[in-house]
Amino acid sequence: MSKTIFQKIIDKEIPSEVVYEDELVIAIKDVNPVAPVHLLIIPKKCIPTLNDLTKEDTNTVGRMIEIAKDLAKEFNIHKTGYRTVFNCNDDGGQTVYHIHLHLIGGRKMNWPPG
Ligand code: AMP
Repeated sequence: MSKTIFQKIIDKEIPSEVVYEDELVIAIKDVNPVAPVHLLIIPKKCIPTLNDLTKEDTNTVGRMIEIAKDLAKEFNIHKTGYRTVFNCNDDGGQTVYHIHLHLIGGRKMNWPPG
């Protein structure tokens, strides 16, 4: 199976703007931001979609959400608010098949999403 763009970023084969990294997770700036703050929190383990999660991923996913919370504070959107999104498969708008948590903020967002 060929590497996803995120696996290439994790393996440092292509550049990205890294804002956080540890042994489980990397967080980068989205190359095509939809808001003033748009970060992606990505597990280092390649899990294609949320449907592929197993019990052994529970700690990693919890860590991803904790990092999103910390980055929201670091990027100063924690008080105004923000959105965290996992897109899944085609109807969910997923384009990269390596799960990632979008952290989006810095402007008012609509609900329901389009
Ligand atoms: P999704 O549509 O939920 O799969 O989100 C994929 C996201 O990855 C999109 O918001 C893209 O803009 C972003 N993206 C794609 N390639 C890169 C890249 N090389 N560096 C940073 N973000 C990327």
